[in-house]
Amino acid sequence: MRHRPPLLLPLFVAAALVAGCAADTGVQSKRADTAAPATNGSAPGTTGPASTVPGSVPATEPGSGSTGDGVGDSLFPALGNPGVDVQHYDVHVTYDAVTDQLQGDVTLSVHLSGDRPTFSLDAAGLTVTAVTVDGKPAKFSTDAAKLRITPASAPGSSVEVEVVYHVKPTTAPSAVGIPDGWFNTPGGSYVLDEPDGARSWLPCNDHPSDKATYTFTITVGSGVTAVANGVQRDHRTENGHEVWVWQEDRPMATYLIQVLTGAYDIVEGTGPHGLPLVSAVLTADHATMQPFIDVTGEQIAFFEKYFGTFPLDRYGIAITDSFSGLAMETQERSLFSRDDFSGGRLDPSTQLFLSHELTHQWFGDAVTPARWRDIWLNESFATYGQWMWGEHVGNGSVADSAAAALASRPPGSSADPTVDQLFSYNSYDGGAVVLQALRLTIGDASFFQLLQQWVIRNNGTSRTTDDFVKLASQISGKDLTKFFATWLFADQPPSSFPAAA
Ligand SMILES: [Zn+2]
Repeated sequence: MRHRPPLLLPLFVAAALVAGCAADTGVQSKRADTAAPATNGSAPGTTGPASTVPGSVPATEPGSGSTGDGVGDSLFPALGNPGVDVQHYDVHVTYDAVTDQLQGDVTLSVHLSGDRPTFSLDAAGLTVTAVTVDGKPAKFSTDAAKLRITPASAPGSSVEVEVVYHVKPTTAPSAVGIPDGWFNTPGGSYVLDEPDGARSWLPCNDHPSDKATYTFTITVGSGVTAVANGVQRDHRTENGHEVWVWQEDRPMATYLIQVLTGAYDIVEGTGPHGLPLVSAVLTADHATMQPFIDVTGEQIAFFEKYFGTFPLDRYGIAITDSFSGLAMETQERSLFSRDDFSGGRLDPSTQLFLSHELTHQWFGDAVTPARWRDIWLNESFATYGQWMWGEHVGNGSVADSAAAALASRPPGSSADPTVDQLFSYNSYDGGAVVLQALRLTIGDASFFQLLQQWVIRNNGTSRTTDDFVKLASQISGKDLTKFFATWLFADQPPSSFPAAA
């Protein structure tokens, strides 16, 4: 994700000034970077000794935190549900953009582990009216963050859980300080769920350690288009409404869900080696946005040379009427704001947006961080991809981008952010500095082999920083313990890059 909500604008303007010496000059001051709030002196937790120790707690371990409700995520202890492993979500929602009311009926195919007479789902602010487990009515209760379910009889290890609910969606700021959830717009709606917005409109296991497949059946008003991740399976008219069915067959974290409703054109094409391309743009914007649709195949072909074959089943872009600065790697179709693309031309800013979110499809979507503290596995890699594409199109070399980022880097480990640093400089450019140092240390061949193997071996799963560190040593044939201690886990990395291997 790269975005800059209007509420935080002054902070990001300040950040851009601090970071404004990067090679992509002219982009820095405009880009929807989340960079560098850590430089404003409010960087709690960056000096603690814990930053030198990579976490090793499996993401699915029940938490030992004060709530005990989540799966032990150190940054979001309430998220996720112990013993719950969702395999598939069959999501049915009816949405009216005029009244901003959402009615939902979701059936979750769940593996339950352990002896669980009761279990929970993440659900924030939903009015739940009925719950069944394997077709039988279940007892349930809700509080601010959870839906607690007690089946009529002891549940088996695999259950079908149906939840009927309704909500007037809200988009309150998450703990990170950025609004997330289901956004009503003048022409319809979109969702931005990272990190914890999905639970505000969908009962779910809202933690990146639990990926599942999805079917979305979205009912909207006459003439309205609805778009979601994956492939379109159906579109029909029923009782004066439009019903759109989309299916995502690749395991996906809840924060990567895409739903759009409004006056959209769905634009189909073909990318490298026959890869289906499916984009969605507002009908009124279609001509303006065509250049960005047209460059998609070329960008995929470029990144495939370095990251390996595109790891999912299709790709495309979606451009919505959100606040300026929104850019999100929603799975198989990245989401952008029309305000950032209204010029209709590929310039350093739009190139940066497009290449960053595309890179996430390998790093973040195919392979997802198991805990939110592992966010650098998303953002630093996407930043590195954005640097590589920038070099390819003549917007400054990777070496210059990395040198500028190293010079601007505030203290703090990229592998150990606090909640309010989740989308800060060291998760992005600061961590991309680590990748540049790693590339110089192990050489281009090992570096890109590592990135490819990271995706090939882990596609469809959620992984930790520890997993990446281990694979890096394995692929390079070098003991990189000292390298990662120095560059990734240390509070203050070296001031200059190592010599190229
Ligand atoms: Zn990103």
